[in-house]
Amino acid sequence: MDMDINLTIIEKAKIRENKIKEIEDKKLKLYGLRKTNEENEILEKALTELAMYNKTDITCPRCGNELVLLTKGASSELKCLNDNICIKIISRGI
Ligand SMILES: [Zn+2]
Repeated sequence: MDMDINLTIIEKAKIRENKIKEIEDKKLKLYGLRKTNEENEILEKALTELAMYNKTDITCPRCGNELVLLTKGASSELKCLNDNICIKIISRGI
C-alpha cells in the first residue's frame, strides 16, 4: 500500500516537473532563448573565458554580436549584446 502511495507522489511530481519544463520551453521559445547544445557549448566556453581572463574572442553563435558577462552576487549571466531577443545563459556559483 505504501508503495502505491509513493509511486503516486513520484508520478505527480514528474507530471508537475514536465509541466514546468513545458512552460519554460514555451517561454524560451517565445523569447528566442531556446538554445541548441552547440550554442550552449559556445556560450559556456565564452563564459569560462570571460570569468577567467576577463575577455573572449567568442561572439554570439546566433548573430555574431559581442557577448557580455554580468555578475550579480554568486550568479553570472552571459548575454548577447543584441539583448532580449537573442541568447543568454545564467550560471550560478562561478
Ligand atoms: Zn546574438
